[in-house]
Formats: sequence, structure tokens, C-alpha cells
Amino acid sequence: MEENNHPENNDPSTGRRRFIQQSLLGVAGAAGAGMAITSTTHVAVAAETTEGEAQTGQDITDEIDVLVVGGGSAGTIAAIQAGRAGARTLVMERASYLGGMTTRGGVCFPGLFDAWGKQIIAGIGWELVKECVDLDGGTLPNFAKVPRNHWMNQVHINQFLYYLLAEEKCAQAGVRIAYHEFPQQIQKTADGWRVDCAGFGTRRRVLCKQIVDCTGGAEVVGMLDLPRLREEETQPGSIQFLLGQANNPGRPTNKGNGLLHAIYVHGADSSNSRTVTEASLTGRKAVLDKMRKTNKRLMHLQPEPGFRESFRIVGETMITVNDYTSGRKFDDAICNAFYPVDLHTKTGVRPKPLKPGTVPTIPLSALIPKGSRNIIVAGRCVSSDRLANSGLRVQAPCMAMGQAAGVAAALAAKKKTTPLEVPLAEIHQLLAKHGAIIPSKE
Ligand SMILES: Cc1cc2nc3c(=O)[nH]c(=O)nc-3n(C[C@H](O)[C@H](O)[C@H](O)COP(=O)(O)OP(=O)(O)OC[C@H]3O[C@@H](n4cnc5c(N)ncnc54)[C@H](O)[C@@H]3O)c2cc1C
Repeated sequence: MEENNHPENNDPSTGRRRFIQQSLLGVAGAAGAGMAITSTTHVAVAAETTEGEAQTGQDITDEIDVLVVGGGSAGTIAAIQAGRAGARTLVMERASYLGGMTTRGGVCFPGLFDAWGKQIIAGIGWELVKECVDLDGGTLPNFAKVPRNHWMNQVHINQFLYYLLAEEKCAQAGVRIAYHEFPQQIQKTADGWRVDCAGFGTRRRVLCKQIVDCTGGAEVVGMLDLPRLREEETQPGSIQFLLGQANNPGRPTNKGNGLLHAIYVHGADSSNSRTVTEASLTGRKAVLDKMRKTNKRLMHLQPEPGFRESFRIVGETMITVNDYTSGRKFDDAICNAFYPVDLHTKTGVRPKPLKPGTVPTIPLSALIPKGSRNIIVAGRCVSSDRLANSGLRVQAPCMAMGQAAGVAAALAAKKKTTPLEVPLAEIHQLLAKHGAIIPSKE
């Protein structure tokens, strides 16, 4: 008789009791036999207050150099970079882990770090991605080979390991993380900002010199009433899931794409808690319907849909689709980018590849909200027209923008100036020191 058919095993209470008894016996037995127990059974949380932080009850005050809001593709790298550059840095993330679209959205195939047979983006984002693949025993694409389709050189990573490593790198760089929190009110001060934030059971006041807005939709820029752009109808989001087979993170399961399955969520909007709730409910219902129709088991579901588009800033420079497709070398370029023009519509997407040899660049001035001081953005909200943005917004350029914003903010805090007034040569020098690739002039 199979053990599962034993009546006792079908009684939840006795089954559970027996499981606990067996677990205890297992531990006692192992210990009695002098065997090592390999699993970690106890961990302790770190002290609640750290240097520079005053705390009374739920009220906390932080005096820091750089506040990074949003710990996604761009923000994670911005924070690590600012910390490594010696700035007292806090990264604030409304969710409970880092990575943004890479992890919560399940877009765990960052790209593109290469173009036309060579690597064009490296630095801290690449370090994290590479370490994630190495530790997971995965494989990296061969960048010397120009792939038949652009997506073939995206890197498949284990999304869970990615945020564990990101947290480790933050800790090593002295970056503190505030999960479940978001800014509620922002005011200018003599030398920066006073940012009042909320989380459950937490009210935090951050006094900082610089803000790096990496919220995807430039939410801090919006709170400051600085101009932003938005399309009337935004591109669909996608909810990712897997039916009928176990998720094998970091490993494509089928030839070619083998990723999680995706359903378009039209109207998905990351702008606020109400629109994110609506998109999540709609996407999840569609997965449930699909499951019922196919009669397959649901094996994996991302906690939120991926959002492609919401607000973009109006920056000191606006990157146009002509700049992008012609591979314009901006005088103040801080990183490269590479991806086809990739606009998703109601009927799908038809990527338009760039001409051979074209490698677009991103200028520092496109990260600076027009007319602002002491704030810089990074990620998909970069100042760009819609079509340029559809290519620029992929993860490797977002990471590279994050690193550049981290450098610019840290140097601006140190020099008591604003990111746009930091000499470009110093930004380039520090970026290169931390492994980033500076765009070539030709
Ligand atoms: C379905 C889909 C498929 C894609 N395919 C690819 C692909 O194949 N390859 C590729 O490289 N890229 C792909 N992309 C694009 C890419 O993933 C995103 O454009 C990129 O990750 C955006 O990075 P970001 O840092 O700007 O934003 P995000 O990664 O979204 O990070 C923003 C972070 O800010 C946090 N946040 C927002 N508001 C607040 C607030 N007020 N307070 C605190 N935290 C806040 C969010 O929780 C989030 O963690 C895809 C995107 C989608 C949606």
C-alpha cells in the first residue's frame, strides 16, 4: 500500500503531528549519531538602529548623503555604486525585495550587455548578473558571437538568487535598505531635501543631499511637480506564470525561449497602489482562466505583472528616436544602450532592429529633470520620446544609468553641488574605476 493512501496520512491533524514528530526524531537522531545538521536553524535580525539613525517608537530620522527611491533594475545598482563611492546611502523600496522588474515582474533575462560582437555595458550590474549566473551554475552568452535574434544574448538568471546577492552587495557597500516604505512628502532644505516617508509601523524622516529617483515612473519627480510625459494609452504589461511544469529559475526549459509564460495585461499601469492592484487582479484572473481552460497545474506565478510604461521625465536633454537609431554619440554620454525599437501594442510587438554597427548612447543630461537641482533619475523614466524609450528601457542600460546616477549623486553630495555641475571627466573616471564602460566618441 502506498503511504499516501494510509487513512492517518489523510487526516491533516494527525499527519501534521506525525511530521513534527518525525522532524524532531530526525534532528535528535542526527545529533545523537554525531552528525552535523547542515541546515541553518537559527538566524538573528540585526540591531534596529545604525549610525546616523535616530529612533523613537515608530519615528525614525536619517541623515544621509544619497536617498535612492526604488530598488529595481536601476535603483539597486545606483545604491550600490553610491555606497561604494563613500556616500551614506539608503535605498527605499515599496516591495519586500530588490530587483523590480527583474525579480517581482519575473523579467529575469536582463539584456543587452553586448552589441555587434563585443560587450558594451559592464560595471556593477554586470558584476551582479555574472555572479548570479556563476553561483547558480548557469551559463553566460558568448558576446563574441553576434546572435541571429537580439534576445538570444539576454542572460538567464535565477531571480531569487539575484535579490539575495543584491542585498549582500548593498550590505558590503554600507547601503541600508528600507523595504515596505515610500516617500509621502518632500521639501527642499538649505543643502538638499527633507523626505517624509511611511511604511507599516514606521514613519521615517530622511534628511539627504541628493535623491536618485529610480521608481520606474519618476514618482519623486512627480511629487515635486516637475514635468513628466505619459502616453494616452500605455503599452500592455505582462503577467508571468508557468503551467504544467516546474519553474527552473535561470534555465530556459525549451529551445529558444523557454521562459515563463506571459499574458498581456492591457491598461496595466504602475502609477499608484490602485492601478497596480487593478492590474494584478486582472492578470491573476486571466491566469486562473487559462489554467482552467488548459487543465494544467499552476506551478509558478509572479507576484505582480510587469509594467512596460508609465511616466517619463522631461529632462535637460530629450533622447529622440533619431538619436537612438542613428547611434548619436552625445557629448555628455555616460553609458551605451542596445536593443531594437520595441513598442508593444494591442496586437503584439514587431521589434525593429538597429542597423549593423549602431550603438546608441545615453547622456547625463537626460537623467536630470529640467530646471531641477539635487535630483537625478535612472531607469525607464529617462527623458526620451516614446520610440527611443521602447529600446532604452531594457535592463542593462537601466543598470548602467543607475550606476552613472549613483556616481553623479555621490560626487555631487561630496562637492556640495548638483549632479549636472559635477565635471563629466570626474564622473567618467569614477565610473571606469568601478568597472563601467564609457561610450567611445566615434
Ligand atoms: C513584460 C516585460 C518584458 C520585458 N522584457 C525585457 C527583456 O526581455 N529584457 C530586458 O532587459 N528588459 C525587458 N523589459 C524591460 C525592463 O525590465 C524594465 O524596463 C526595467 O527593468 C525598468 O527598470 P527600472 O529600474 O526603471 O524600474 P523597475 O525595475 O520597475 O524598478 C522600479 C522600482 O521602484 C519601486 N517603486 C516604485 N515606486 C516607488 C515608491 N514610490 N517608493 C518606493 N519604491 C517604489 C518599485 O517597487 C520597483 O521595485 C521588460 C519589461 C516588461 C514589463
